[in-house]
Amino acid sequence: MDRASLSNFDARLAQNEAALVRLLQDHLQANGQQGLFDQLNQYHATGDDRVADLAGETALALHRHELQSLVDVLAARRRIAAGSYGTCTQCGEEIPAARLMAYPTAKRCIDCQRRHEAASATTHASL
Ligand SMILES: [Zn+2]
Repeated sequence: MDRASLSNFDARLAQNEAALVRLLQDHLQANGQQGLFDQLNQYHATGDDRVADLAGETALALHRHELQSLVDVLAARRRIAAGSYGTCTQCGEEIPAARLMAYPTAKRCIDCQRRHEAASATTHASL
């Protein structure tokens, strides 16, 4: 992927990231959850995957989806920084730009994503 496209995707992801963090911070402050607020800021600042752990907190249970999105956004921005963005993490093929436009946090090509979803559906069904 060329540099200009990469920085476009990074700018879009940065906007998503800022919006998600703001929403979560507003919620935590409105609920007087200073401790969680501090944790969120700390994890977020270091791009830490423990952001996802906060989904287990009752105060943030409503925002599990936003927390997961934030983790995905942080991971996508790490891939941009590492130069692996837009490459399928499963098969190593390039992820088509149209897919990335629709899902900027996509880490797999559509074929691998389908296989992954089919595999996890089977796993869940057998539990
Ligand atoms: Zn793939």
